[in-house]
Amino acid sequence: MESYDVLIIGSGPGGYVAAIRGSQLGMKTAIIEKYSTMGGTCLNVGCIPSKALLDSSHHYEDAIKKLPEHGIDIKGEINFDLSKMIARKQAVVDQTTKGIDFLMKKNDIKVFNGIGSFKDNNNVDLIVNGKVVETINSKNIIIATGSKPSKLPFAEIDKERIITSTEALSLKEVPKHLIVVGGGVIGVELGQVYSRLGAKVSIIEYQDRIIPSMDSSLSKELAKVLKKQKIELLLSHKVSSIVRNGNLVNVLAYDKNEKEVSLQGDYCLIAIGRKPYTEGLNLKAAGLDINERGQIEINENMQTQVENIYAIGDVVRGDMLAHKAEDEGVLVSEFISGQKPHIDYNLIPGVVYTWPEVASVGKTEEELRLNNVDYKIGQFPMRALGRSRASSDLDGFVKILADKKSDEILGIHMIGARCADLISEAVVAMEFKASAEDIARISHAHPTYSEAVKEAALSASENRPIHI
Ligand code: FAD
Repeated sequence: MESYDVLIIGSGPGGYVAAIRGSQLGMKTAIIEKYSTMGGTCLNVGCIPSKALLDSSHHYEDAIKKLPEHGIDIKGEINFDLSKMIARKQAVVDQTTKGIDFLMKKNDIKVFNGIGSFKDNNNVDLIVNGKVVETINSKNIIIATGSKPSKLPFAEIDKERIITSTEALSLKEVPKHLIVVGGGVIGVELGQVYSRLGAKVSIIEYQDRIIPSMDSSLSKELAKVLKKQKIELLLSHKVSSIVRNGNLVNVLAYDKNEKEVSLQGDYCLIAIGRKPYTEGLNLKAAGLDINERGQIEINENMQTQVENIYAIGDVVRGDMLAHKAEDEGVLVSEFISGQKPHIDYNLIPGVVYTWPEVASVGKTEEELRLNNVDYKIGQFPMRALGRSRASSDLDGFVKILADKKSDEILGIHMIGARCADLISEAVVAMEFKASAEDIARISHAHPTYSEAVKEAALSASENRPIHI
């Protein structure tokens, strides 16, 4: 039996990154993946395909709504072919997952295809077609089995009309009326894709705002933009029933006054979050269990209660984000090899890839108020930028929250064009414990959207923005 220093179960961004870092550090590394393609949720049915469809649908929307304003006259009717869009998305996914195959070979990582199931804390059975085909021995084992979409107890997901994000990424037709249950990141992103392509989209959210985990000013601004884009938002609504009737889906909900609201669409996307995935792992054989939230408990080094077994990514506590999983993948391999790595979870940015994009890092205003922190705010509207007027991307703002006394930046929240990329400056600044004045005194190229960050910083530090 061949033995490894590190064996990783699951090849998502947590698992494959842990494998590469482990191999870079000289450890004999292997990875088990149950699907035929590497890359997990993120590459196959998450980040990458959703962004491919967001981009395609954005191009279409620009072609019909924005190009005439720029003086570009495309003769005849502008049309799209959904099957081609989906095929392009799949080509992007295939290319990206093949890239992981290449990286595994390049880094000399042994890949096993099948389900990894613990035999004991050093041995994992490889199960193919229900049979144990091999037992793999390893000094250290990293669980990186990710997550699956959460379900509602009263709704049967038939994957045809009542669907999860996975099916929503491969629809054969544009829904006439797409009902999205859940106004979190996945719900608003996929809702916007189909709205751009002509579907009526209704988003039902239990809480009183969309993207509820982010600063409430971002929720408000995004809601304003989505409403302008004719997306219906039903906030503070609790869904109580989802039933398919032929090619239609009936959804019942109650508003905050307990009034019944009934909707009928041809597709219903359930996007209420994701839950950790541990099925088939046979955790008990390794001396492990899951907590009441379905997660594997770990310490700050990603170590479970069994010393040589670690867990990372969506299967453990914290935000379900690909870059958080990647950072944990690096941390765990470095820790196993004897280093002392660290992650500052406060500085993991969150991004929503709608247009305008939404991005955030650090504390929200709600969190600062809850913790009685004395803070000041600097905010700058995108519409005051020359760059925004040049591209007609006028919605949004950058908001900087800084400590009232020390001026240290505590949180940066932004919505607008290219904020997914702009947030990097905020993360770097906060990693280096910058004050608002530090950003305000740094040169920002003109004309760029990044000038809104500088102006918000000027506003926060000395209340002296230049352009408003
Ligand atoms: P996963 O990516 O879920 O990978 C786990 C892997 O383990 C899977 O391949 C699975 O098959 C395998 N596995 C499970 N059990 C076993 C077993 N017993 N044996 C062998 N293999 C097993 N995050 C972002 O940061 N940015 C985004 O833009 C973004 N967009 C998203 C869009 C959508 C529609 C969705 C659904 C998610 C999105 N996410 C995004 C979240 C992101 O995909 C996850 O946070 C990330 O994939 C988690 O990585 P992971 O390595 O923990 O697990």
